Formats: sequence, structure tokens, C-alpha cells
Amino acid sequence: MVDHHGQIDNVMHESRLFPPPAEFSQQARIPTREAYDQLWQRAADDPVKFWEELGREELHWFEPFTKTLEWNEPYAEWFVGGKTNACYNCVDKHVNEGRGGRTAIIWEGEPGDQRTLTYSDLLEQVCRFANAMKSLGIGKGDRVSIYMPMTPELAIAMLACARIGAVHSVIFAGFSAEAIAERNNDAGAKAVITADAAWRRGKALPLKHTVDQALVKSPTVEHCIVLDRVNEAVEWKHGRDHWWHELVREASPECPAEPMDSEAPLFILYTSGSTGKPKGIKHTTAGYNLYAKKSFEWVFDHREGDVYWCTADCGWITGHSYVVYGPFSAGATCLMYEGAPNHPSEDRFWDIVERHKVTLFYTAPTAIRAFIKWGNDHVQMHDLSSLRLLGTVGEGINPQAWMWYHEMIGDEKCPIVDTWWQTETGGIMMSPLPGAIATKPGSCCVPLPGILPVIVDEDGDEVGVDKGGWLTIAHPWPGMLRGIWGDEDRYQEVYWSKVPGKYLAGDNARRDGDGYYWIMGRIDDVLNVSGHRLSTIEIESALVSHPEVAEAAAVGRPHELKGEAVAVFVTLKNAKPSDELREALKQHVRKEIGALAQPDDIRFTNALPKTRSGKIMRRLLKDIAAGKEMVGDTTTLEDYSIIAHLRDDEE
Ligand code: ATP
Ligand code: MG
Repeated sequence: MVDHHGQIDNVMHESRLFPPPAEFSQQARIPTREAYDQLWQRAADDPVKFWEELGREELHWFEPFTKTLEWNEPYAEWFVGGKTNACYNCVDKHVNEGRGGRTAIIWEGEPGDQRTLTYSDLLEQVCRFANAMKSLGIGKGDRVSIYMPMTPELAIAMLACARIGAVHSVIFAGFSAEAIAERNNDAGAKAVITADAAWRRGKALPLKHTVDQALVKSPTVEHCIVLDRVNEAVEWKHGRDHWWHELVREASPECPAEPMDSEAPLFILYTSGSTGKPKGIKHTTAGYNLYAKKSFEWVFDHREGDVYWCTADCGWITGHSYVVYGPFSAGATCLMYEGAPNHPSEDRFWDIVERHKVTLFYTAPTAIRAFIKWGNDHVQMHDLSSLRLLGTVGEGINPQAWMWYHEMIGDEKCPIVDTWWQTETGGIMMSPLPGAIATKPGSCCVPLPGILPVIVDEDGDEVGVDKGGWLTIAHPWPGMLRGIWGDEDRYQEVYWSKVPGKYLAGDNARRDGDGYYWIMGRIDDVLNVSGHRLSTIEIESALVSHPEVAEAAAVGRPHELKGEAVAVFVTLKNAKPSDELREALKQHVRKEIGALAQPDDIRFTNALPKTRSGKIMRRLLKDIAAGKEMVGDTTTLEDYSIIAHLRDDEE
């Protein structure tokens, strides 16, 4: 009999297990499964005490906190009464403790230009830019939009805001004027920091021009600061527009970090928009900073001498927590790359890894699927032996892609950390701890210390082993969001109204007999076929395990008898679309995961609609599969022409 309380059927069978390499474990922070279990249990027994100790040890305090957690559901305050500064923790702390000569940023521009900044360099440049902002009257509590290419100045701008207590809102530098204006207005931004242009696949993208258009509709914005990146001609509005280099030339290199309340807002960041209109997620200072630092150290097992590269753009939460706040708090050396992974050719990433001897590499499944499609030659022409750990984030990774990453990039010697988290969670919530936890392809493995996941059905009752249900978090954690900017109702409604006392993540998951977690896709995306509830990722992974399939997306389409039929959209590696292949794929899914999940419709396409952060937008495909007009927000869609093509293809 089928369960009616929202449980999801589990049809995936993945039993491969990869123990941490002995060499890796020997020097790891958390070197054994027992060490992880003990640490996690100690944190679970008394989370407040656990975070209290870490809070004291890991951050610099201008004034110590007096209470660790004040919890009035759904509002948390962490490290109450304390004063700290996230920029101080990221930069000054290292310089003051004798690590100023250490490399903070190794930067490579798309055309091949390079710069290296030590922590002392970073401090000086952050201070100058902080003073520059102050000279324009920007200060504590003011909101500042940042729309910039991945240059050191983007990190400098974020840190300078943190230093003076301004709240940054980074907007990915591929968004339209409309999207910028919407975010400026939602946040009430006082200033925008941008560049003349950005390099993208050898072309200059006119950022300033786009900002000019946005500012016509952004009445709160008084100033626009422009980095001269490309030397493009720009229009200029005197009084409003200022060149970055002119401002910093006149600014003093000394600027004490502002002591900030633990709960002072640090930034606003709009979510990717995979499921609807983006939400302006609010994060505050101390708790977020602590969580970004500790999660970075635990998951990446960072050591002095590592060269760490997270390929995410600072326009996404990954770029906040694992390009800037986490790694800099930990004193890491971070590689930053400005451009596209296939410019000038498809081996650009591996060329960078080889030349800079990258040791820790963190990217997204969408990128991995592209590398697979581009072919192994681009990888094999480079020496990747410096790598010692690989990570992924943003979507589930299909076991097939995981195996490719493991063999082709990791040479079977690098642990893979599949990290599950969200803009809302501030930092990684579940991941293998690389020295301690044996990995399973497609599983994000275990919760971090201090994180208490519970999988529940629609009544809020915990489900059993291997039963899919809603993923919730039972206890507040320091990195959690503090709200949606300007929308308390939506905050309560989205995360706290359906399951009392627990944070509702919006994803489905199951926990297997070994205590490993498997993300099963978004709650909104579940397919309901003949009373069976199926997860998107399991069907997609079955398709991707076919040798001809590059990418797949599964959605439900209304069906008279079954409730929903399974509709899938597939991109191929080399094969040509054909009815034979369509039939072969149906049989393949049937064999892999059962008749129930066998697709009713298979549509071949050259590309899938994705957000600009590379996530498949299943809600749009759902409308297409149902033959409906598209509803809902499409501002974060990367390429509208894909939708047009999919519609044209309709039979
Ligand atoms: P929106 O909330 O606006 O719809 P979004 O959820 O895509 O957008 P993000 O906060 O960038 O915005 O993404 C978080 C989501 O990404 C998670 O809820 C989950 O669905 C997915 N995700 C992230 N990492 C993983 C992972 N390792 N495995 C599976 N899914 C993941
Ligand atoms: Mg989300």
C-alpha cells in the first residue's frame, strides 16, 4: 500500500563505497570515523555549549558575548552582546598574528593577466577602499550593491563593506538591468559598485552600461563606483559616478575595523531562483562568520601550504562563504579566476590547476557534466597531481558524474566532498568529512558537527530508514539565515510554518542504514505516479548512467490515469536523437530503477534551461511538458532561447 504522508519512494541502488585514502586521513583534522562520531555527538548533546566554545576561540572579540543563543522561534540571535568584525577576522587577524606575508589571493584574469596579493596587501587595499566609501558618506547599516567581475576588487569591496558595517548585496554580473534594479530597490541600496566591463569568452560585457540602465529605476542609489577593468568607454554621470582608482589614490591606507554587534547584518543575498522569485536572504555577522570558518576547515581539511580554488562566482552564496569569508578567516591561499571554463579552450581549468598547483578544488555538478561532454583529452593533457581533495555544490551529483570526477580528475586518490547546503544555511550542512568518512557516489553523507537533520513526513513525524521525506533541521545553528530582507511573513511561511519547531529546507532526502543522507530533489519537484512519489534525481541519475546521455531532467506531467506521467528532457553526448534511442533509454531506466519510473515521454534537446548559477530549472520544464504557458519568475533564467527551442520541438 502506498504511503499518503508525503514519503518518497526510494528506487536508487548505489552501493559503492570509497574509504578515505590512508595518506589523507593520517594528517586530517578529523582522522577517523570514531573521531567524527564523538565530535558530532558532543555537539548534539549540547549544541549551545559546543558553539559557545568555538565562538570564543575562533573569532576576535572587541567585546565578549554574554549569551550564546537567544531563540524565539523562528528568530535566533547568536553570541548576544558581543562585538566583532568579519573583515577583521578575515584579514587583520592574520596580519596581526604574523601571517601578513602569506598569499591571500592568486588571481588570474580571463585574458591571462595575473596578480598575487598577500594578507598585508589585502589589508591595505581593503582599508583604502573602505575609506573611499566613507568619503562618499557610506557607513554602518547602508546597503551597497556589488555588480562586478571576479577580480580581487570584488572580494576587496565585500570585505571593505564588512569593515565599515555596510551591508553588501552581491548581484551576479550576468544579470539584466531589470534584475539589478529590482535588487537595488528591494534592499534600498545607497551605492552600487561595478566595473566598466567584464571579460567573458574574449568579449567585454558592458557592466557599467547595464548598471546605468538599472540606476534610472533605482531611486535610492546615490553613488556608483566603477573599477576600470577593461578600459571600455563608459557614460559618466558627474556627482554620481566615481572611478575606483581615483577614490583609493586619495584614501588613507589606515581604517580601523568597526566593532559590530554580533547580530548586525553582514549581507543580503538573493537566492538562485530555481523555484520562483529570488528571496533576499539576510545573514548577520558573528554566527555566519564562525560557521563559514569552521565548516571550511572541517570540510576542506585546509592546511598551511594548500592552494584552494573554489570556482563559484561571488554572486552566489558559495562565493561568499567559500571564496571570501570561510577561507580568509582560515588564512587560506585562494585562487580566483575571472572567466569562462572554456576560454580560450576547454582545458582552461586544468591548465590553471597545473600551473598554480591547486590542491583543493571545489566546483558544481553542471561544470562537471560540461567537462564530461567536452571529452577527456582536455583533462589528460595536464598534470593534475597536485590535487588532494575535490568538492561539489549546487545540485545533486549523479553517481556517473561522481565516478568520472573521481577517476579522471582525482586519479582515484582524492576524497570527494559532495556538500549539501543553501543560501539560507550560510554554510555547508552535510558533507563527508574527508579524512573520516567513506564516501558513496551521490550521497552528501553526514551532517557537520552541531547540525541535527531530521527527515519527516507531512505530519512532521520522523520517517524510518531509507524512507524519503522532507529534510528539516532540528536545532538552530550559527550560520542560519536571520530572515528574508523586508519580508517577515515570507520567512515564517516558507521555512517555519509546515513543521513546528524545525527549519524546513525545501528539499527531500532519505537516510540510509549507515546513517548517510541522500538528497532526493526539491519538495516542489516530486513526481506522483500512480500514487507513488518519485524523486527527480533518481530518474535523472538512471538516465545519466546510460553511456549516450550527458544531462537529464525529469518532471511530472498531468496524466488521467496515473495522476502524473514521467516526462524527461535529455541532452546527448554524441549520438543522434532517434526512436531507437528513445526506446533504449526507457528500457534502461526500467532496468536500473524499475517499471514505475520508466519515462512516458522523452524529449531530446541541445540544452536544458538553467539558472545563471547553473541549476536545472525543472519548474519551467514542467510547464513545457504539460503544454502550459510558463508561469512564475524567469529573471534568473540563463538563456531564454533554450525555452523557445523546447517549445518549437513540441510534437
Ligand atoms: P530558490 O531558493 O530561489 O529556488 P535555489 O534553491 O536554487 O533557489 P540556492 O540557495 O543557491 O538557491 O540553492 C540551494 C539548493 O541547491 C538546495 O536547496 C538544493 O536543492 C540544491 N543543492 C545544493 N547543494 C546540493 C547537493 N550537494 N546535493 C543536492 N542538492 C543540492
Ligand atoms: Mg532554495
